[in-house]
Amino acid sequence: MPGKSIHRLKDVLIGLEVHCQLTNLKTKLFCGCSTDYRRDPPNTHVCPVCLGIPGSLPTVNRKAIEDAVVVSLGLDSQVSKTSYFFRKNYYYPDMSKNFQISQYDRAGGIPISRGGGVEIQVNHAHRKIRITRLQLEEDPAKLVHLGPIDSSPYTLVDYNRAGVALLEIVTEPDLHSPTEARIFLQKLRSILEHLGVSDGRFEGSMRCDANISLSGGKRVEVKNISSFKEVERALNFEMTRQQSLLSRGSTVSMETRHWDEARRLTISLRSKEAEHDYRYFPEPDLVPIVVSEEWVKELASTLPELPDSRRDRLVSTYHIPVYDATVLTGVKALADFFEDCVALYSDAKAISNWVIGDLLRWLHEGDLGIDASKITPKALVGMITLIDEGVISGKIAKKVLPEIVRTGRPPREIVEEKDLLRMGSPKEIEGVVNHVFTENPKAVQDALADEKAIHYLVGQVMKATRGRADPELTNQIVKEKLEQLGALG
Ligand code: ADP
Ligand code: MG
Ligand code: ZN
Repeated sequence: MPGKSIHRLKDVLIGLEVHCQLTNLKTKLFCGCSTDYRRDPPNTHVCPVCLGIPGSLPTVNRKAIEDAVVVSLGLDSQVSKTSYFFRKNYYYPDMSKNFQISQYDRAGGIPISRGGGVEIQVNHAHRKIRITRLQLEEDPAKLVHLGPIDSSPYTLVDYNRAGVALLEIVTEPDLHSPTEARIFLQKLRSILEHLGVSDGRFEGSMRCDANISLSGGKRVEVKNISSFKEVERALNFEMTRQQSLLSRGSTVSMETRHWDEARRLTISLRSKEAEHDYRYFPEPDLVPIVVSEEWVKELASTLPELPDSRRDRLVSTYHIPVYDATVLTGVKALADFFEDCVALYSDAKAISNWVIGDLLRWLHEGDLGIDASKITPKALVGMITLIDEGVISGKIAKKVLPEIVRTGRPPREIVEEKDLLRMGSPKEIEGVVNHVFTENPKAVQDALADEKAIHYLVGQVMKATRGRADPELTNQIVKEKLEQLGALG
């Protein structure tokens, strides 16, 4: 990564505009259309309001305001007593009204909340990423292109998404690397999941525009990034692109670029529009949003446990290391899974080791979230119990786990079907040892001369039994047999 070596950390400034769909809402922000559109054909969840038919009038979804206040509280953001919806005027097929109802922080506009922050951990250091503001707005329609956006012969429009409530969370440019941006987004997602307002499992529920500048130069805004992995990729690409411009003595111009996921590069969409191009003005069809102190208090009193306090509670209740608790609370479903396991089995550290070790590895391997995997707390605990009972070894368990992740089948069933039961009977092992001794006369001679060479013979027994032989017993039997041979010779 050329950009990385040349630029000191503080020279890279990254600020994010994160758009979170409030997926716990049943209806859109300004109409009664259902938000459960993802499995349905295009343009089937629409009405005159979200299609922008002249004469239709919006009404605000009260629950959306409630969600926005809940998130503000969760991010320590100051809720505005009165805030306003504004019209952001532009002409583009994703907004058939030719304006988007949004909020604004200038020209008399007041967003739903301002300030606050998210604490992230980067290489053991804690850093606070400041939040600039939160604002409610409607999601535009989804545009579908044939191949890359810049060569597609046409654009298809799906209005099912148009009008769905979005909460835009804008950060200060406090992030200093693409990796930090990803860590921030993961933390933010865990907070939103814990608050119960936005579920990351829904495709496109969290989207982000990323702003990046180098060495005090102009900032570039990269749009349409679909996943956290892609944010990191897009920013790395942009960092390198800007770096190479600067190193050639050229300058970076202020512009909006599009992240092309397939080709893994950013392409220029337009030079950054000036604010006045949008002709922001107060939405005349909606009244100001007034959030009373009582309402805020009421919502604050029912605020759920957030990842940081949950992390501390996991440490104090289950006596697991802070590191473990941090990983577990990084994804709500993972922490839930852990706590469900601990309710069934008392050795919390053993559970944590399996969850943040092998289980996470297999989930990553299959690009699965824990809730998309078939594994249940009962199955994982069942597997650990089989180890405790001496039915399988830890080594065999590592082979059984991916099968549980994939199929959710009871571990005992998998073990029996694949003939993985631990071989614990001395007679059985002795038979294999005899066979190995006959097949490897040279190794037997070596072991008689030098005790260290015995590992080879033990290894051969493990190999012949596919790891099922009890290692201690095998060791003992091999030694006894060598002693007998030694006494004879
Ligand atoms: P706009 O409406 O122009 O997109 P916003 O206030 O909505 O402006 O968003 C500005 C975003 O750009 C914020 O996330 C902010 O942190 C980020 N930003 C501002 N200045 C810089 C900079 N010099 N380098 C990188 N990002 C920046
Ligand atoms: Mg913006
Ligand atoms: Zn509608």
